[in-house]
Amino acid sequence: MASPVAIAAQAGKLLREQALRPRLLAVRSQAGHLTSRRWLNLQEYQSKKLMSEHGVRVQRFFVASTANEALEAAKRLNAKEIVLKAQILAGGRGKGVFNSGLKGGVHLTKDPNVVGQLAKQMIGYNLTTKQTPKEGVKVNKVMVAEALDISRETYLAILMDRSHNGPVIVGSPQGGVDIEEVAASSPELIFKEQIDIFEGIKDNQAQRMAENLGFLGPLKNQAADQIKKLYHLFLKIDATQVEVNPFGETPEGQVVCFDAKINFDDNAEFRQKDIFAMDDKSENEPIENEAARYDLKYIGLDGNIACFVNGAGLAMATCDIIFLNGGKPANFLDLGGGVKEAQVYQAFKLLTSDPKVEAILVNIFGGIVNCAIIANGITKACRELELKVPLVVRLEGTNVQEAQNILKNSGLPITSAVDLEDAAKKAVASVAKK
Ligand code: GDP
Ligand code: MN
Repeated sequence: MASPVAIAAQAGKLLREQALRPRLLAVRSQAGHLTSRRWLNLQEYQSKKLMSEHGVRVQRFFVASTANEALEAAKRLNAKEIVLKAQILAGGRGKGVFNSGLKGGVHLTKDPNVVGQLAKQMIGYNLTTKQTPKEGVKVNKVMVAEALDISRETYLAILMDRSHNGPVIVGSPQGGVDIEEVAASSPELIFKEQIDIFEGIKDNQAQRMAENLGFLGPLKNQAADQIKKLYHLFLKIDATQVEVNPFGETPEGQVVCFDAKINFDDNAEFRQKDIFAMDDKSENEPIENEAARYDLKYIGLDGNIACFVNGAGLAMATCDIIFLNGGKPANFLDLGGGVKEAQVYQAFKLLTSDPKVEAILVNIFGGIVNCAIIANGITKACRELELKVPLVVRLEGTNVQEAQNILKNSGLPITSAVDLEDAAKKAVASVAKK
């Protein structure tokens, strides 16, 4: 997992949701299957286009959707060497494997014909990496770029850090490799610069980071300049994360961003229309897109207990307690705040559309959410969808008493739970009985 989150978590506590990502990834590897996106996340070629528009140095490239286009692109590049890269949102592509049998999502070659042959084994096939679900992610596009020699690979990321209430630049002279490993084994090789968002990045901060990354002589100024440009890009596009690994050096003395991963703050969609229009939803599962239409977040997992929760923190707690009680979540549907009855209905519809689901656990903490609205939504959904699986409900918070009455008086076979532990036990038991 070459995500900068692990390092940043060291730098301090991150935005809560950001800190949750590795947990979600851990859940994914536990459960074998999970795809969740919290923010708009662009493909490498899209991120690099934004970077080059902001003066950040990237290689010349074309994008191709067929092997023939890739071949043509390779010829048109007219480069000494070409690098062919599968475009998926997950990292670790270099060490990935395709279900066509091809090893490696990143290939270097001098022969444009080889680009065509390799692209044929990439496009339309699934690429599995450390960061994807087991079955991998289908590759629809490849990037055909001018390869450059790399003399040194460093790591650079800019992200929002809650403990400092602003952006932090994280870097390491040991880039290219798994950055979590560097953070764990040689934490002294991880460097941070906290940026005052009102004052912006200072020259001496960019210079210090360039030096810490090991850029010497004239390369130091060049690297500092690239770091400043990356920071300006980060701000201008409302990114939550810009990660460049490797942030490399060529033997000719150029500092180049060889890889790029940018995430965006969804709250900025209103002023970043062009960027959000690039959103590539092809990697989402249809059910995730369907959920998004109703402002719900769906996460698919491998078990048989559907979980209906509000908030990512509660989702994680619910997940843990189900596992502790010997059960396995089938999915999560996160309701977020400001809920309407109709959303609850849609949520149940989505949850029960999954044939794996053998029980439903509702775990809602009503703060902003009014429990009575949830209870009404639940009873309506139960009746209209003729719910056939056991339903365990734990509600807490605003208007909970009225909510309990609604459930009790509904005459529906709903099992109430007093707390999360009780809810998990009852849900696990209801599945075990079958
Ligand atoms: P990732 O595996 O998904 O992170 O994909 P990257 O874009 O980082 O590529 C993986 C590795 O391929 C990099 O760490 C580099 O070592 C290598 N690589 C990528 N582009 C080039 C290039 O233009 N020239 C050379 N020599 N190596 C490259
Ligand atoms: Mn990389």
